[in-house]
Amino acid sequence: MNANRKILFIVALMLIGLAVATITNVALNFRDYGYNNAIEKSKMTAEIVRDGLTAHMVNGIMDKREFFLSNIANIKDVQKLWIVRSSNVVAQHGEGLENEHPRDAIDRQVLKDGIAVRKISEDSQNAVLRVTIPYIATAYGNPNCLACHNAKEGEVLGAISMEFNINDIRQTGAMTIAKIFAINVIFIIIAVWVTNHYFKPYMKLFENLQNGIKRARTGDFSFRFTTTLKNGGNEVAEQMNTLFQKMEETFGGIKHNLNTFASRSNISCSDPLSTAGMIIQELSDVYKFKKTIELDSSKDAIYERFVYVLKEKFKYEHFALYEVDKNTKERKLIHISEGKTFCLPIADKDASECRAHRTASDVYSTDFPNLCTNCMHDKEYSCIPFNINDDLALVLSFSAKTVAEIETMNLSLPSIKNYFEAAKAVIESRTLMDKLRDSSLRDGATRLYNRRFLEEFIDKSSEQALRSNISYAILMIDIDYFKMVNDTYGHDSGDIVIKTLAEILQESIRKADLAIRYGGEEFLVLLYNTTPEGAVQVAEKIRARFNEKKYHFGADTIEKTLSIGVAHFPSQADSIWKVIKYADLALYEGKNTGRNRVIEFQKHMHSGDQF
Ligand code: GH3
Ligand code: MG
Ligand code: MG
Repeated sequence: MNANRKILFIVALMLIGLAVATITNVALNFRDYGYNNAIEKSKMTAEIVRDGLTAHMVNGIMDKREFFLSNIANIKDVQKLWIVRSSNVVAQHGEGLENEHPRDAIDRQVLKDGIAVRKISEDSQNAVLRVTIPYIATAYGNPNCLACHNAKEGEVLGAISMEFNINDIRQTGAMTIAKIFAINVIFIIIAVWVTNHYFKPYMKLFENLQNGIKRARTGDFSFRFTTTLKNGGNEVAEQMNTLFQKMEETFGGIKHNLNTFASRSNISCSDPLSTAGMIIQELSDVYKFKKTIELDSSKDAIYERFVYVLKEKFKYEHFALYEVDKNTKERKLIHISEGKTFCLPIADKDASECRAHRTASDVYSTDFPNLCTNCMHDKEYSCIPFNINDDLALVLSFSAKTVAEIETMNLSLPSIKNYFEAAKAVIESRTLMDKLRDSSLRDGATRLYNRRFLEEFIDKSSEQALRSNISYAILMIDIDYFKMVNDTYGHDSGDIVIKTLAEILQESIRKADLAIRYGGEEFLVLLYNTTPEGAVQVAEKIRARFNEKKYHFGADTIEKTLSIGVAHFPSQADSIWKVIKYADLALYEGKNTGRNRVIEFQKHMHSGDQF
């Protein structure tokens, strides 16, 4: 039963209840009224008869009483009327008239007990009230009964019996009830119609809302709400439509992207909104992970964080992480839980003995018995290869005691691969940096990377940056009027200023950033994944810190300033060399416009045919 019908049913039921109560009440009142009316009439008639008979007796015309009694019997609704004599009246005054003998048991009982009897006999056609009232002898009435009757006080002298027709009252009652019933029926019909008329649009809107929300739960926001209601109802429908339209546009837009991600994740839920929430949560977790490892200084620190994620987020207990050097073909153990060995030593010496690495595909022990011949694990295991670049690959192995357990762990693999994917570019760049860290590519005086480092680093890292959506802000820094220091205070004083700047650079940038001594007193800073505003902030910080330094050369105390040009890779050009040139042009602009400035590169700064 829908909501509208339910309300109508309840309203109708309440009104019917009210009608039944009213009709019952009226019926009972009518019955009481008719009954009491007849009783009163009988009492009055009894008194009239008694007084009439007494008058007949006093006047000595008792023999005319029949005429009197027959007239009394003509009173409306009196069907029959007769009087009876008690035995002591019979004894004193004789038998009386033929019809004055007790006619039935009621007469006899009333003569005997002196107690009035009322009795209703009714069938479907008739309703008759029989009343028999005794006449009791008393010396205290007017006239004194005992003056004429040989009777004691309280003795029964006779009785009067009457039969009243109460049919009329019953019929009037039935008619009244029928009218009330008819009025009630009409009223109920009108009330149900009015209720239906006013409630139906609300109920329809309510049903609409139910249907729309039901569909929205499955991610379908195409439902639109209509209503004939005004004053509020239409506003609800309009607001819901606006909300659904926005949801349709927004959710439709992200649905595609989420689906792409969901296919790479183990998240699946019948409710697409919950799925979206879970995917966004996972994306956010992966993003946080990526942001964190971007600031980790070494590859080992990234591996450690990855192990943490496997333990804490995915609750892996028994697993091992290996790093494969593709050039030497050696496989190095990065982490193993509880020191358990997964493979025979040969897999470490020769990575091609590691089935997962060799085949570059996932190895599941549940696929085939004894799948990897070099695996020492007697329980269930899975081994997942992950390629980083031409030089490096990783292998993740994990095990469980039962098939059910390993299958549950395997379900997390799409998510784990998302973490691998996020870590890939960072590991790649840290590998490169680790390689170059302690090489001859550093400047001896400042320990910053030198120009050769830049030349080796730049091509590899710019390719990778383009692949992985990594951006760099490039700061080109040059000390203002530096020659003056050399010329006035000597070359050694100049070196002090250069070293001071190198220290300031290293203090001002993050681990993932790079500071390079580009030329004599020219420096290049590569800021990893920084916004243009962030890059200018760092540049301003460097400029201000350098300017705060005081140099005591001989008797003089001097301050120096520097100028910085800022450009962005790859948003301003997809070649880092080009962007370095742009930063240089911005620096040149800074020199020409007063020095001690940070200037961002803008298109008008180059003529277009310079590169
Ligand atoms: P500007 O504000 O235009 O940059 O003026 P500047 O005097 O700084 O001019 P420029 O940048 O061309 O000056 C570079 C000078 O830096 C030339 C060279 O003598 C000096 N220089 C280069 N390398 C070193 C070094 O390692 N030590 C010292 N002391 N001086 C150096
Ligand atoms: Mg200079
Ligand atoms: Mg210079």
